[in-house]
Amino acid sequence: MGFSSKETGTVYLVGAGPGHPGLITRWGYDLLQQCDAVAYDALIPMELITSLPERVEKHYVGKRAGKHSLPQPQINELLATLAKRGLKVVRLKGGDPFVFGRIGEEAAHLNAAGIPVVMVPGVTAASAAAAMSGFSLTSRQESSWIFIATGHPAENSSTPIPWDQVAALHGGTLVIYMGIARLDRIVKQLLESGMAPETPAVVVHAASTGLERSVQAPLDEICSECSRLQITPPALVIIGDSVHCHSDNLIAKNKPLAGKKVLLTGPSRKTGLFCSSLREAGAEPLPYPTTTCRRHDDAEGWKSFTDAIGSGGICLFQTDVDVHLFFEELVRHGQDIRNLAHFKVIALGENTKAALLQYGIRADCIVRTLEAASLAEPISKLLQAAGLPLILIHGNPAAGIPEKNIQALGIKVVHLTVEMESAAEWDSRWKEDLVSSPPDFTVFTGTYEVRRLVELLGKDAASDLTRRSCVVSMDDSIEDILKKFGLFYRIKLNSLKTEDLVKAVTDYLK
Ligand code: SAH
Repeated sequence: MGFSSKETGTVYLVGAGPGHPGLITRWGYDLLQQCDAVAYDALIPMELITSLPERVEKHYVGKRAGKHSLPQPQINELLATLAKRGLKVVRLKGGDPFVFGRIGEEAAHLNAAGIPVVMVPGVTAASAAAAMSGFSLTSRQESSWIFIATGHPAENSSTPIPWDQVAALHGGTLVIYMGIARLDRIVKQLLESGMAPETPAVVVHAASTGLERSVQAPLDEICSECSRLQITPPALVIIGDSVHCHSDNLIAKNKPLAGKKVLLTGPSRKTGLFCSSLREAGAEPLPYPTTTCRRHDDAEGWKSFTDAIGSGGICLFQTDVDVHLFFEELVRHGQDIRNLAHFKVIALGENTKAALLQYGIRADCIVRTLEAASLAEPISKLLQAAGLPLILIHGNPAAGIPEKNIQALGIKVVHLTVEMESAAEWDSRWKEDLVSSPPDFTVFTGTYEVRRLVELLGKDAASDLTRRSCVVSMDDSIEDILKKFGLFYRIKLNSLKTEDLVKAVTDYLK
């Protein structure tokens, strides 16, 4: 298919930062949200990918377990093909693409193909490693230069790194990317060339992620410390007087969930808030959605709601997502916030309450569960007249709604389904990841997620996963389905609130 330059899309070469999803630049983040397609590497925080709008084509081109990345010519070709289709393409690379990011090869290829390119820098791993360890790469007294090197130069590189000359320099900081595999050799060369054995050194693995670990030691001990603590890639080596040694080799991590991986199987609209709170508590979230949510046009539900506009009733919002979708749909149905004038509003939980406030609505009542016992009192207080409906605004499947119990209170229940869950596709790497290194926790927010995980992994692997990982069931209805599939669960939590999840997981570890 031919193309004219008018139709050709632009490729944005964007730095994603070193691991924490907040370390992408604002410019890069905005581009991601607006793009049509993204091609991304390993080491990109998954929150940035799985939270993208569904219309965005997602292409993983990084390394798979034990295998290599897509070869560079194929990546170049993929980018060109996407752009030629007229798409706005983000090529997302770890850290800063301009530091050991092979960006030159991709840019040159696109350039030759006449495809417009925009380059967006990012935060490089060295900055993150220093920041997370609490020292500066430069300092007025101790370090007035930075030497950045790769520990793994290309085989055909014509410019070997002059380690002996670097060793002879004083008063600066040496930063080595991709240096773990050859650290022994590099350190030996530095010491033999006269670098002081007591020069402070630090090695930081997975800086800024929930799996971060670091080791500090004098230069002549750093290799043995790395082997003792089994430090693996990705890791950054920093050597120099500006690295301030702590007495303890392993920098203390005070966050309660540091080093813990938490698999979130729910759709990203539901688990987005979980990710940020889990990260805050030190964990590494794995948002691998087994299901996606699509907005649902529930004609019958909207008719019942419209019929009640004049007389009122109660609108009960279950989640923050339902709130946002409800208001989108309200406007789509030619109505607006004034149509809610005669309704009382109940919110399930604080997140839902907060979402309603964004639309200028102060909930009349906040309930913690949908048990009939906790709903009976607010409903009887808020319902102005008999016969008015309780409108349950929710997603499908309608997990956790004890409709019969509410009806037993003599209340007419009307359902308004604003979203539908459906199966999400999985990158094959996710399955490999989970099987080779199970997460510490596996969180289910709905029954459909359990079914989907079993479909995706197969019964045996799913069963194995639930034995090796602590399963958190966030809704009553999930336990039955877990039992049905013969899967284990250890934490039962009848709340979809973020803070309850973080607390339950933290308490479990105590
Ligand atoms: N463009 C990237 C570097 C890519 S080379 C950047 O600017 O950060 C890959 C190497 O970067 C890894 O082998 C490791 O040495 C380093 N690296 C990347 N992310 C890292 C992280 N979160 N913590 C420590 N080192 C990291």
